[in-house]
Amino acid sequence: MTEPTNANVDHSEIAKFEALASRWWDRNSEFKPLHDINPLRMGFIDSKINLAQLQVLDIGCGGGILAEAMAHRGAKVTGIDMGEAPLAVAKLHLLESQLEIDYQQSSAENFAEEYAGKFDVITCLEMLEHVPDPGSILKACHTLLKPDGHLFVSTINRNPKSYLFAILGAEYILQMLPKGTHDYKKFIRPSELAKFARDASLELDTLTGMTYNPLTKKYRLSDDVDVNYLMYLKKSR
Ligand code: SAH
Repeated sequence: MTEPTNANVDHSEIAKFEALASRWWDRNSEFKPLHDINPLRMGFIDSKINLAQLQVLDIGCGGGILAEAMAHRGAKVTGIDMGEAPLAVAKLHLLESQLEIDYQQSSAENFAEEYAGKFDVITCLEMLEHVPDPGSILKACHTLLKPDGHLFVSTINRNPKSYLFAILGAEYILQMLPKGTHDYKKFIRPSELAKFARDASLELDTLTGMTYNPLTKKYRLSDDVDVNYLMYLKKSR
């Protein structure tokens, strides 16, 4: 599919993921954090909804770590991303996992023009902090969801602690992520995300934190939303 020009795609951000894509499924690579948090994110989604048989769209699916976990639960998953290499890796990995997932290169906004009202559930995890206008993504999610549809989003808060953990800690001290993975200015406060959601007629149901303990090297869900956090939203009519 040729993607028409879309102002809400930062191609320098896409290039970062293109460059690393071959290592997406290597649990000891730059993608280790995504592998480590995946059971937690999945557990959060499972606690809200049974995905079996539902039409699910994963926006910014990358190499498909979350998309595959959802397909394992019997969801009918479509994954979209603007990166060619991550999508190629995602498709290749299906040969190994024997799962069926429909992967397409598209932005959320362009997909919404074609597939309005088609999805029961949308997930958009660890992507909003890489796009110029997160509010526009939430509006596209509203369009793509069926009435009473469910949306899960996650991103990184913006404050001195998140700078310390997500940039200095993760990129410079612990070197869990390549330097330059995240841009502090693009981090989003929960209040800002909640406002984008309200503007898109999406109702906030649950906000939860995902906390990393550098000593135990483990993540857990918690009430602490200072750094990584997840939101569960519902489409309001
Ligand atoms: N959601 C996946 C991958 C997160 S990495 C997970 O959590 O496991 C962020 C992904 O978002 C990358 O694959 C990148 O190519 C994609 N991305 C960034 N900006 C995008 C945009 N505007 N539209 C679609 N995908 C985008």
